[in-house]
Amino acid sequence: MTASLTLDAVSKRFRGARTTAVSNVTLHVAAGSCTAVLGPSGSGKSTLLRMVAGLEAPDSGRVLIGGHDVAGVTAERRGVGMVFQKSMLFPHLSVLDNVAFSARVRGEARRQARARAAEFLEMVQLRGFGARRVDELSGGQEQRVAIARALAAEPAVLLLDEPFSALDPALRADMHTLLDELRLTVGPTILLVTHDRDEASRVADRIAVLDGGELQHESDVAGAYRAPSSVRVAELMGARNLIPGVVTEGVHRSDLGEIAIADAAVCGPAVLVVRQEDVQVRRPAEASPSRHPLAGPGVPGSRADDDGRAPLAIETVAPARAPGPRWTGTVESARASGARMDLTIRVTPTVLLHAEVTAAGAPRLGERVELALPAGAAHVVAA
Ligand code: ADP
Repeated sequence: MTASLTLDAVSKRFRGARTTAVSNVTLHVAAGSCTAVLGPSGSGKSTLLRMVAGLEAPDSGRVLIGGHDVAGVTAERRGVGMVFQKSMLFPHLSVLDNVAFSARVRGEARRQARARAAEFLEMVQLRGFGARRVDELSGGQEQRVAIARALAAEPAVLLLDEPFSALDPALRADMHTLLDELRLTVGPTILLVTHDRDEASRVADRIAVLDGGELQHESDVAGAYRAPSSVRVAELMGARNLIPGVVTEGVHRSDLGEIAIADAAVCGPAVLVVRQEDVQVRRPAEASPSRHPLAGPGVPGSRADDDGRAPLAIETVAPARAPGPRWTGTVESARASGARMDLTIRVTPTVLLHAEVTAAGAPRLGERVELALPAGAAHVVAA
């Protein structure tokens, strides 16, 4: 029931449009895996999905499902199921008959189609809801029925176009769990369009970032966050520490100091990308000399303050001597964000670092702190 999906140099420009909606996109989604397509509004996400579904024809390029070019194959025959933000259930049919619909169209007997539909309703945890009318369902239940209806058609590829964005956060979390379970039990290949990167990282194996119709990045989830392909992708993935500088021989030099970059593919002007979640923040008093070998007195480049606290200076750390770079700074802003705290820390007159930490025991405004980066958390992209 599952098959790989490949887009091969697919382009689409709508008649009369000034810009290309989808431009030369090549993307492979392995059978049974889930790729989330992220991008701002108008970046071409829905158009891409609609071309896979057969609802739009590409101007050029190929769509392959299970290795077969589906050009000329109608939407109904592509083996593709689709769920949209609005469920688009048939209001005149019961919940059960909505789910049984595709089997009925395929010519299955009503009884058999309904029996199978009941199994899919059970799969989306709506056992006993079959006789209900569509207008008796809540928003979350409607989306569950829409998913059951799409799965009942036994699609090789399931396309989800912002399916949960109209739901409140608790229901959305329930739907994410449901999707996990369906991936385990049914295992369809999924292409999920979303503008919510948290959702993408929660649900998908891989993330594809579209901007202006072009594929800007494709990798596993961690790579999209920690090794974005460009400044734009870093911004779209919510990275808040973007520090301009220059890379020579695998070392990024900026107002933040020198940082060795393990996988520097860039040489010349480059932006250092550090995730705010990766910046480790500690009060100097919490630090022991053994845990902070470069922060204490007597260490070259280090300066103890009058009160014996760690130095307010940029530390340039040789990777051989410490796992990652360290600095000290002063908290300039502290904003609560749920159970987390967003800190802005002045490290040099020109550099502010953003750090996201747990709110419990977080440093307060004006407090001096030590900052460290785990090895491998610094990434560079061409400026
Ligand atoms: P997204 O899903 O990322 O918001 P879309 O794929 O809907 O983006 O749109 C990409 C671009 O194509 C936008 O500029 C949009 O205005 C344009 N577009 C989408 N559908 C049509 C259409 N049917 N006719 C003309 N332009 C369209």
